[in-house]
This record gives sequence, C-alpha cells and structure tokens, in this order.
Amino acid sequence: MSDLNQALATKYKGNFLKEVIDNVEEGDMVQMCMQCGVCAGSCPMGPHWEHTPQKIFMMIRANKREEVLASDSMWMCTSCYNCIARCPRELPITHIMHGLATYAKRLNLVPKTQPTAKFAQLFWNNLTSKGRVNELKLGISLYFMNGFGEGVKTAMANQKLGLNMLKTKRMAINEAWGGHSVKDKSGFHAMLKKAAEIESDSIEANSK
Ligand code: SF4
Ligand code: SF4
Repeated sequence: MSDLNQALATKYKGNFLKEVIDNVEEGDMVQMCMQCGVCAGSCPMGPHWEHTPQKIFMMIRANKREEVLASDSMWMCTSCYNCIARCPRELPITHIMHGLATYAKRLNLVPKTQPTAKFAQLFWNNLTSKGRVNELKLGISLYFMNGFGEGVKTAMANQKLGLNMLKTKRMAINEAWGGHSVKDKSGFHAMLKKAAEIESDSIEANSK
C-alpha cells in the first residue's frame, strides 16, 4: 500500500463515503443517490462492467473502499452522458466515475492491465511532452503498449490505413523526428507543474 493510500485509509477508516466527499470530484452528490437503478439500466457499457454506477454508489456507502478503488468499472465509462440525462436525482454520474478513476490513480490502485488507464497515461505523456498531440507517436505507442510482438502484428494489420493517412496528410512522417510543439514549452511545463503541486497539496492536506 502506498504511503498516501495508507494515510487516507487510516484517516477515513470506517467512512469511505466521507473520503469520497472530501477527495473525489462532485463526490458529495453520491449522498443523493436513491438506488433507483435507472443509471444501471441506461448505461450502454453496463453489461460489461463488474459494478454498475448504482452498485458503486451503494458500495461507497457500504464502506467497500478497496473493492471500489481497485475496480476496473469506472474506467469503462465512455462519457456518453446517458446516465446524467436520466437520473431523477440529477447526479453528475459521469463526473463521479472519472473522479473515482482519477483518485484511484493517485493512490496507485488501478489494475495494472486496465487498457483505458494505460491509454490515458500514453495520451498524457504524449500531450505534455510538447503541448501538442503527436499522432504518429501516439499511434505507435498504442500499437506497442502490450509488447513488441502484438505491436508488430497490429502495425501490419493497419498498414493500409496508416499509408492512406500519410497520403491524405492526416499524419506526417516527420513527426517521428521530434514533432511540433507549443511556442512556450517551458512556460507550459511550469504551468503543469504548478497545477500538479496544487492538486497534490490538496490531497496531502486531506490525508492528515
Ligand atoms: S439513476 Fe441516479 S438516483 Fe438512480 S441509482 Fe443511478 S445515480 Fe442513483
Ligand atoms: S456516461 Fe459513463 S456511466 Fe454514464 S451511461 Fe455513459 S458510459 Fe455509463
């Protein structure tokens, strides 16, 4: 267990709902859920989730901290907003799902093979390197995210698509050697560093 996870688990022992209220984006709204099940029935990904949003809200109240935070479920949310449009209590379910995923990531509790989390990290690393997405490098790192063998197989299967993208200038081969950047790259990095510090300070403060 990471130090931060241990500190938060100890501080909120027996009251996971309070931990969610204090640390997860719009987590206070979990209290408004009346367990009607409309979100579970409306979610197009529902059949593929281990726990539906309705069940996650019930588990938060039932103090199932580890089961929720180490779950794969909230990473399956595609942000379609079906649930928000239909919830009779107007819970911002989509935001809470992403908030729970972000919190689990901060505490280092994400399942290691979770593909959305892996892609999110690749995308973040790619974007923050120069302030602009390098699509060529992102595509390559995505192909190879599960190892060399699978990467070669995926690249071979998609070679026609890749060539067409190059031909129609949807992708530029020179992006492989550096790629374009925002004008003030160091200013951009300083801004990200400051934002990370503010976020980290807020969670550290909540752990005490
Ligand atoms: S639709 Fe809203 S009130 Fe009903 S279970 Fe889902 S979150 Fe709770
Ligand atoms: S926004 Fe996410 S949780 Fe809501 S219905 Fe769509 S996939 Fe399901």
